[in-house]
Amino acid sequence: MTDPVLTHLSKTKLELGPVHTAEPEGPWRAARDAHGVLWLALDCAGAGANTVSRDVLEGLDRQLDAIEQEPPKGVVIRSGKADGFAAGADISMFRKLEDVAEVKAVLSQGHSVLDRLDALDCLTICVVHGYALGGGFEIALACDRIIAVDGASFGFPEINLGLHPGLGGTFRLPGRIDPVEAMTHMLTGKTAYTKKARALGIADAVVQERHVKAAVRAAIEGRLERDGPGLSDRVKSLPVARSYAARKMRENAADRAPKDHYPAPYALIDLWETHGDDPKAMQQGEIESFAQLVTSETSRNLVRVFFLQQALKDEARGDDGIAHVHVVGAGTMGTEIAAWCALKGKTVTLFDPDVRALGRAVRRAGTLSSEQHLTSIETRDALDRLMPDPEQLGVPKADLVIEAGPEDPELKSRIYAGLEPRMKSTATLATNTSSLSLTELAKNLSRPSRFAGLHFFNPVSKMQLVEVVTHDGTFGTVSAQLTAFCGAISRLPALVRNYPGFLVNRALTPYLLEAMQLMEEGCDKEVIDRAAERFGMPVGPVELADQVGLDICIQVAESLKSGLDKPMPNIPGWLREKVDKGDTGKKAGRGFYEWKDGKARRGTASGDGVPDDITDRLILPMVNACVECLRLGVVRDSDQLDGTMIFATGFAPFRGGPMHYAKSRGPDEIAARLNELANAHGPRFRPDPGWQDLG
Ligand code: NAD
Repeated sequence: MTDPVLTHLSKTKLELGPVHTAEPEGPWRAARDAHGVLWLALDCAGAGANTVSRDVLEGLDRQLDAIEQEPPKGVVIRSGKADGFAAGADISMFRKLEDVAEVKAVLSQGHSVLDRLDALDCLTICVVHGYALGGGFEIALACDRIIAVDGASFGFPEINLGLHPGLGGTFRLPGRIDPVEAMTHMLTGKTAYTKKARALGIADAVVQERHVKAAVRAAIEGRLERDGPGLSDRVKSLPVARSYAARKMRENAADRAPKDHYPAPYALIDLWETHGDDPKAMQQGEIESFAQLVTSETSRNLVRVFFLQQALKDEARGDDGIAHVHVVGAGTMGTEIAAWCALKGKTVTLFDPDVRALGRAVRRAGTLSSEQHLTSIETRDALDRLMPDPEQLGVPKADLVIEAGPEDPELKSRIYAGLEPRMKSTATLATNTSSLSLTELAKNLSRPSRFAGLHFFNPVSKMQLVEVVTHDGTFGTVSAQLTAFCGAISRLPALVRNYPGFLVNRALTPYLLEAMQLMEEGCDKEVIDRAAERFGMPVGPVELADQVGLDICIQVAESLKSGLDKPMPNIPGWLREKVDKGDTGKKAGRGFYEWKDGKARRGTASGDGVPDDITDRLILPMVNACVECLRLGVVRDSDQLDGTMIFATGFAPFRGGPMHYAKSRGPDEIAARLNELANAHGPRFRPDPGWQDLG
């Protein structure tokens, strides 16, 4: 009988050694080749990607029993999945573990399995294609050799979950490569792509898939030696050098995230500084520290964020049926949208009345390809897919037309009048508007049911979230197609209803305007930014306004003021004067801050005249607007809202999102506080009626 797993494995076109016949169950398949080498293929049933679960480790333990009974000439470990080796630990496992002792017991079991693998007498080789992350990387590190198939990448993203590696990574990676580089990778969660992984010594060889067998043979015959840690690596592991490096690492960590909010980097630095030259002590310390972190509030909230992200991804599954995208307007947004879609496999035609903008767009696609680590062939293909289209010949062929022209309702209507008659009747028209009402824009259309918003954020390549905005007449099939489209181009869709500012700008605008109000009252801009960042926002509101563009902030604020029947902070006259002078923020090199090399030049915060309610004045209006959007059904539920705000604005992830924060702090307490602020500063702080439903 044909084993369905074998059939699947052969379809992946991966070099998996001999035909796998053993073990009908479990995630591992084992078979020996003619040279006595045992090939172990990891293939978790029913999952798109392998994750390192208890099942995987227990299965490996059973394989090790068999290996010890009948030692092979060597062991090759690789994945049977086409996408990659393993995407890390099974995160749902962490959610189930309640107390520190329970976590320690589970971790100790996992460690003993990888210790056994590490201690095998025969040569062990991990062949990695695609990604080897977290626990997957830790399995690879427990092998004697790592062979990377071109395109492979390695990383420890645990820090993003408020954790550090927990299955031996904290001592096996620093034991394998330059320890300071190893720490940097663990502290930042950065991925090492193939070339870097080879240069660092993570991978011992890089080969094409068709050369895997030959590389394995070379390793087994002793022709693939490891370089091993050099003298300088050993020096960096000495206590004095570790103390010096640890100090620097703490400074860098403090720049990115304060210890109170994100304890994991500091725990990892402490661990390495104290025990960095003693793997056994590191192992005990790693288990202890990981168990403390994984049961902490920060990590629980960050794991929650991971699942919110998964939920948004799940909504984006399915076939979008979109092969050809036509983008109208090659300014800041249209350029990025077109380039991103081409990189993600769509055929793209791009129009702008200014042909120079089209040239810039193609150049941008080139730089984006290298930023995204595309190979030269992938870059060539992406650039082939992106076609400047000054005659708009792409319109009749496009399945989706994205309009990213200037934020002017009349101009947009004129653009639609030119496009619609030439579009396929089944094609969808989407606008990237950030502030105009879709209901109004839809009024002059002949097919309003096939019209919706696709609100990308700037820069498209870094901002994962896209608001998919519907008006009352949008077909359900169209919104479903657009959410699937977001998935197809690796973005997270948030389905929202047409509302002034939609969700994200509705919530963000009071935060930005309150910062202006505080400046009007004489508060230092650095103090304002520091207050928001201390709360956990990635950048303060003044710097964010500069990043967004002060002209765009005014546009959005005006649109909200006219569209909402809620009091909002004033747009100060001096802000308009700044914009009129051309000081529009980052793009102009000057806004509230001077900008150099993409960075704001911030001074030190002066403590004079700092209102003690500054943090609440900035954050609570944003949360209040979220409650309003929830009450009015702009978003479906509080989880979707939290995910959207975190991935669109960076809302303090360790707090689990604005609604989670509101629930943790207490809705009644926040409503009372908003009333206090309203009495002190004006009716813009009045709590939304929706707070009553949350209390
Ligand atoms: P932009 O001014 O940089 O680009 C607009 C482009 O449209 C220009 O290249 C211009 O030549 C072109 N254009 C002018 N007339 C046109 C016409 N008749 N037909 C087609 N193209 C025409 O503007 P942008 O910042 O890229 O914004 C575009 C849209 O995206 C706006 O609706 C804006 O609200 C929205 N948006 C902007 C941002 C942002 O941060 N910039 C973020 C999200 C959404």
